[in-house]
Amino acid sequence: MNKTVYVDNNATTAVAPEVTESMLPFFHEQWGNPSSMHTFGGKVKRNVDAAREKVAALIGAEHPSEIIFTSCGSESDNMAIRGSVDAMDGHPHVITTRVEHAAVLGPCHYLEDRGYRLTTLEVDAKGNLDMGKVREASSSGKKTVASIMWANNETGVLFPVPEIAALIKEGGGIFHTDAVQIAGKLPISVKDQPIDLLSISGHKLYAPKGIGALYVRRGTKITPHIMGGHQERGRRAGTENVPYIVGLGTACEMTMATMANDAEHERRLRDRLEAGILATCKGSQINGDVSNRLPGTTNISFEYVEGESILLMLDDVGIYASTGSACASGSLEPSHVLRAMDVPRSMVHGSIRFSFGRYNTEADVDYILEKLPPIIKRLRELSPFAQG
Ligand code: PLP
Repeated sequence: MNKTVYVDNNATTAVAPEVTESMLPFFHEQWGNPSSMHTFGGKVKRNVDAAREKVAALIGAEHPSEIIFTSCGSESDNMAIRGSVDAMDGHPHVITTRVEHAAVLGPCHYLEDRGYRLTTLEVDAKGNLDMGKVREASSSGKKTVASIMWANNETGVLFPVPEIAALIKEGGGIFHTDAVQIAGKLPISVKDQPIDLLSISGHKLYAPKGIGALYVRRGTKITPHIMGGHQERGRRAGTENVPYIVGLGTACEMTMATMANDAEHERRLRDRLEAGILATCKGSQINGDVSNRLPGTTNISFEYVEGESILLMLDDVGIYASTGSACASGSLEPSHVLRAMDVPRSMVHGSIRFSFGRYNTEADVDYILEKLPPIIKRLRELSPFAQG
């Protein structure tokens, strides 16, 4: 009988029941506007403030006022990059990497199209950055805005963000990191690092979709992209999404308490899955630096098979994973992250990402290890390349 096994937690997580519970009073009981002068609104504002403190605590921000609530991780990334570039005099040099999420690459290319100089740093075969190249780019003699992710969403590979931030700051630049995939999975502390801006997203850490936050270090200038009222200290106008803000606060508070256990649990499941796949599926390889990754993420390539075909067959038996590849205009484009890592042609199309979360179990791994090897075997038999 088919089970349902969800192993796509880097795409989104289930909302924790405790999070939903904490949100409910803000729909029908405490539905006031936090900007209102009356006590009905004031009570709601206190809950928004409490949520801000919880988000600040998760990322180790010194002042809750350094947290701006946004609608998602993509908004936080756009706001950080375009907002800090707009607030700088002249045309800063923009630095990023080839393996960023589209929410970072999009605004960087937008700026490049408008005449800003953009440096896109390469990664090596394991997905790591060359720190010499970071240093070179950061000392270009021009003011810089650098946006470099902390954990890669496809491979889980971690960049040494504190060291990178230090190099960028030495060169006088502004440093932003997309921490959407690391927040809640590994401890981070912005007050101890020279990070100016940091993005997080609620739906990667058991809060709902449609809520995010941007950390803006005190003194860092950003031009608001939504102008209007004075919400978020004039940095993002619009009446606050109170229930979701409260939910994000609860999720951050819960995650702080469970992070170490969750990480250990996810690592154990991930490692057992990898060992099982490598032992049973010939021609499989793990992509990315295995000694420097998020605990619950694995990206595995299967030689001479299409990732999309694997996904469809997994879906048929109730296993929900993902592939880095995107089906663009009728052609199957391999993942930009794996291409940047020069994953061989025979492997680059056949990659699957399994990302574990708090609610996965050993039985999920057993089920994948039962269903996946025969799928790979069947697809190999059908592949003209594997036979040739
Ligand atoms: N950055 C990274 C690394 C991500 O993985 C994602 C989502 O997958 C985002 C940004 C965008 O976050 P959101 O879906 O909240 O816009």
